[in-house]
Amino acid sequence: MDIESLTENLPVTELTSSFIHQDKVSVAMLRADLNDPEISGNKAFKLRYNLLAARERGHQALLSFGGPWSNHLHALAAAGHRYGFRTTGIVRGEQGKTLTACLQDAQRWGMQLHFVSRGDYSLKTDPQWIEWLLSQLGPHHVIPEGGANREGVLGCRHLCSTAHPHTHLLLACGTGTTMAGVITRSSVPVIGIQALKGDGYLQQEITDMLRRYRMQAQCEWQVLDDWHGGGFAKTSPDLEAFMQRFETETGVSLEPVYSAKLMFAIRELISRDYFPAGASLLAIHGGGLQGRRSLPGQG
Ligand SMILES: *Cc1c(COP(=O)(O)O)cnc(C)c1O
Repeated sequence: MDIESLTENLPVTELTSSFIHQDKVSVAMLRADLNDPEISGNKAFKLRYNLLAARERGHQALLSFGGPWSNHLHALAAAGHRYGFRTTGIVRGEQGKTLTACLQDAQRWGMQLHFVSRGDYSLKTDPQWIEWLLSQLGPHHVIPEGGANREGVLGCRHLCSTAHPHTHLLLACGTGTTMAGVITRSSVPVIGIQALKGDGYLQQEITDMLRRYRMQAQCEWQVLDDWHGGGFAKTSPDLEAFMQRFETETGVSLEPVYSAKLMFAIRELISRDYFPAGASLLAIHGGGLQGRRSLPGQG
């Protein structure tokens, strides 16, 4: 098994376009999106120790949860296919007439898909419901939605092993698992851009996560909760125009749910003099470019 190699030696791209960068502040991206075309971005980091744990516990099958455009289920299906695990995806919502391109990939990699109502899906962390699922589907190593467990956090610490000099790390947050891992290793301040709506809840959740896993932040860190652009996976003509311009100016592709909102926020924060003069920002590109296919006209 060699998922380790997908989580090491990520390239860094300096963004030199004046669209993003200004005289006083430089911006670079840590390209977790380039680690692997299939087991993409931070999801590879969150799977790293989960796959090892599954092996150690003698499991041949992995089960997890996600929506119809889940980067996590997509990466999990690809990893199972490559490293020899059966995979089961519990998918939020009723099955439509056609599968999303994301779930088509997952199915092609052998993932068994089980669609559950939103009501049932909300039980995704309920131990009794999970036990019932396993009684129906057979034994599996169960990974929470988004890879949000201790193994997930531990894997994300490897995102800090870059030698590229920087004064601030920035990343997009869903469950906050990636941020939790990064702040237990980073020596510079870390700023998270929350992709879901909700004042302050993620700052608290990350604090709780660290306490639960007996880990400690090694740096200043803060989650900014007002850059979600209307809510999780909500796009707007402004955001789409930003993505297009960003890609033309920098040659770096983004996806609408996380990385576009992260880079949008960074550009705005720079223009509001949020960062001190001389700062060199390193933004983590979390990958998941398969999700671009969810945009209108990308089919
Ligand atoms: C899943 C994902 C995130 C969020 O990661 P969390 O660990 O859940 O906070 C950020 N960016 C991309 C591209 C993702 O796929």
